[in-house]
Amino acid sequence: ETTPRALTDHYLDRIERLQPSLNALITRTAEAAHAVADGLDEQSPGALAGLPILHKDIFCTKGVKTSCASRMLDNFVAPYDATVVERLAAAGTVMLGKTNMDEFAMGSSNENSFYGPVKNPWNLAHVPGGSSGGSAAAVAAGLAPAATGTDTGGSIRQPAALCGVTGIKPTYGRVSRYGMIAFASSLDQGGCFARSAADCAHVLSAMAGFDPRDSTSVERDVPDYAAALSGDVAGLRIGLPREYFADGLEADSRAVIDAAVKQYEALGAEVVDIDMPHTDLAVSTYYVIAPAEASSNLARFDGVRYGHRCDAPRDLEDLYTRSRGEGFGAEVQRRIMIGAYVLSAGYYDAYYIKAQKTRRLIAQDFQRAFEHVDLIAAPVTQAPAFKLGEKADDPVSMYLNDVYTLPASLAGVPGMSVPAGFAHGLPVGLQLLAPWFEEGRLLNAGHAYQ
Ligand code: GLN
Repeated sequence: ETTPRALTDHYLDRIERLQPSLNALITRTAEAAHAVADGLDEQSPGALAGLPILHKDIFCTKGVKTSCASRMLDNFVAPYDATVVERLAAAGTVMLGKTNMDEFAMGSSNENSFYGPVKNPWNLAHVPGGSSGGSAAAVAAGLAPAATGTDTGGSIRQPAALCGVTGIKPTYGRVSRYGMIAFASSLDQGGCFARSAADCAHVLSAMAGFDPRDSTSVERDVPDYAAALSGDVAGLRIGLPREYFADGLEADSRAVIDAAVKQYEALGAEVVDIDMPHTDLAVSTYYVIAPAEASSNLARFDGVRYGHRCDAPRDLEDLYTRSRGEGFGAEVQRRIMIGAYVLSAGYYDAYYIKAQKTRRLIAQDFQRAFEHVDLIAAPVTQAPAFKLGEKADDPVSMYLNDVYTLPASLAGVPGMSVPAGFAHGLPVGLQLLAPWFEEGRLLNAGHAYQ
């Protein structure tokens, strides 16, 4: 008999066995999981009753360590639940633990974690992607059937692609950011990973929706995504942006994407080439705006109210500088410095204001594209998962790696990665992008393919 308790134990056992090689989790909550699994309300169990789940360690969890993979928050136990955590608990999910990630969600390889890198379950010498690498690796390795993540510039879609699982980043404003530790507030969006689009549909239905505690949360009904899955894509117009299939795309990965697109044609979709002429501005735009917002958001970590505090500070200045210098890793410090620089008097117009303008141009590319097509299909990454350490000392090549995921983040449109095949023995993801608030269309297209 499959009881919630037995299901919980199955996954806890897999975590026990595979965590030492994968490092996908920061915290395990086995005892609390048992209590929840045993105490599920049989009268009104909730839509996801008994579903084991892992939460990215960026989501505040009441009474449970919430570190954001930073030394700064290594000692932090959240006093409240994020809305996402609260809603998924109310739906009956059983939290097994918190997943590893890049520190403060800054990174594309999970190598920026205070707790060490996560390994790709398909090949332990390779990265799982980032920043939600722990969640993606955990779902890929069967440590949980579903996990939450956040995507500011690709952090759900890219690790989903590199680990061969399905991941969805909803429209900006669709999922509450309350209790989700802020990186770049105008871009941050919560979403989820699972083994299929259908599973993601169930989880997203429970996560999404208006929250008065998040001022950018959008007041708009959430459809029952799972009930709406028809698997029918006949007549759907799919656009292939030329800019996403240009030189940088590795040949074997491209072959996988081309085959996936053919599959959609076989299912009755109509495929057309489109232009998104401002795509090449996305990396420079994002790496001005995201650090700018991060430098402001991370100012709260001052060693005074919570988080890491240095020993025996001489005065207030010393308290700030040493606490932050010790608490933040190298990439986080780099982003804070870039952000402070682009926001400073004299550079503000040249960098920050300019980036706001190019962001608008990128969003207009999507607006125009969606006047002609229902969906956009593209690669998620230029190549499959790279080796651990391969880009670790070259931040710019790490940033360039995000070229296919950043435009949708800047525009705020929903995006998904669907496992499409393998190249060089590693998974390749197909990226699907839809107009604002058309998550249902994305999930249905993913479902049709699977
Ligand atoms: N790789 C991007 C960055 O480092 C995106 C991260 C994210 O989406 N959180 O900022």
